[in-house]
Amino acid sequence: MGEQQYNYLIVGAGLFGAVFAYRARKAGKRCLVIDKRSQLGGNIYCENIEGINVHKFGAHIFHTSNKQVWDFVNSIVEFNRYTNSPVANYRGKLYNLPFNMNTFYQMWSVKSPAEAMAKLEEQRAKAKALLEKAGVVEPRNLEEQALLLIGEDIYETLIKGYTEKQWGRKCTELPAFIIKRLPVRMVFDNNYFDDDYQGIPIGGYNKLIDGLLEDTEVCLKTDFFEDRDRLTAIAEKIVFTGAIDEFYNYRYGPLQYRTVSFETTIEDTTNFQGNAVVNYTEREIPFTRIIEHKHFEMFGATLESCSKTVISKEYSAEWKLGMEPYYPVNDERNNNLAEKYRVLAAKEKNVIFGGRLAEYKYYDMAPIVEKVLQMEI
Ligand code: FAD
Repeated sequence: MGEQQYNYLIVGAGLFGAVFAYRARKAGKRCLVIDKRSQLGGNIYCENIEGINVHKFGAHIFHTSNKQVWDFVNSIVEFNRYTNSPVANYRGKLYNLPFNMNTFYQMWSVKSPAEAMAKLEEQRAKAKALLEKAGVVEPRNLEEQALLLIGEDIYETLIKGYTEKQWGRKCTELPAFIIKRLPVRMVFDNNYFDDDYQGIPIGGYNKLIDGLLEDTEVCLKTDFFEDRDRLTAIAEKIVFTGAIDEFYNYRYGPLQYRTVSFETTIEDTTNFQGNAVVNYTEREIPFTRIIEHKHFEMFGATLESCSKTVISKEYSAEWKLGMEPYYPVNDERNNNLAEKYRVLAAKEKNVIFGGRLAEYKYYDMAPIVEKVLQMEI
């Protein structure tokens, strides 16, 4: 290999980089993983506070219907039986999510699927009639779309304020296509995901990353761009999971994101809100959700035996260069810009671009794993 001591230089110790490194090592390749952060795991990293794994970069719940992916992650660390069942708080009243018979009972006191369906149809018809009266044929914005799909009660209580906080704009200023469907369930089932498998690694996500990177050489606090020429020369190929626009020195301008900021506190109680995820759906409360981290991994007696709890209030915010990029903005400007960068990337012979930043695409964790499992290494 001469100067090239490694087959792969992997830029980024997030899930993409870690699964790639694991597979490359199994295939007998030499890899060096670098990350500019001081810890492994990228956005799934957890910090241990008061014995609780705190999801530092946002709550992460693994879910998939792909058995190969599920078996793979469970071969690294066993997953628990956590089931995502968020609750919404609107002006002090609680509603179950996703929209199901529990929600309809809480909203309208209806007890049977037939009653619930009749109420939904009535709400939809009312919204349709109002819009028609105003001369609206096709929904012109997210508000009109949501009203037609689900009616006023659920829209006003559970969608409007939350969506406006998430996007930092009024629902009447957001495009209709953001909401394509609003699924409803005519069963008393609060399980958010339809997937066959879901859970959290027992012992936390760091166990998953540590397992994947076991026996792989890793350098933390190493920014690829601060030593680009030397780092490029030491490996035959680069697996790049950082930001694609930064790779090209923002040649066409920076891609935009939405970001989230977290206000994390330790509370002197065993159980703060009785659930991992509570959404605050009214506009007047500035945060979107409160996450109580211990509920991801502690159940029953274990929950009670841990005397403190850690909560994070989540605030959605406009992103500026230098802030943590979270969600790509899929508007025309950014999609076009990303495409231009992708054209440059496709010409690279020795660089593989992968993951949420390098592809400028929102990915859940399971599709990231699936993608790397399918790659030729
Ligand atoms: P990252 O985790 O971002 O890893 C990229 C790594 O590259 C980082 O560690 C970064 O420091 C490093 N890096 C970047 N540039 C450089 C550089 N120049 N030099 C060196 N290192 C560099 N998915 C789910 O399945 N379930 C969920 O519940 C869920 N919740 C989410 C909540 C939030 C708020 C967000 C934003 C995402 C959520 N996701 C969830 C998605 C999940 O976070 C991603 O699928 C996953 O983290 C992507 O991994 P990655 O390796 O592509 O990116």
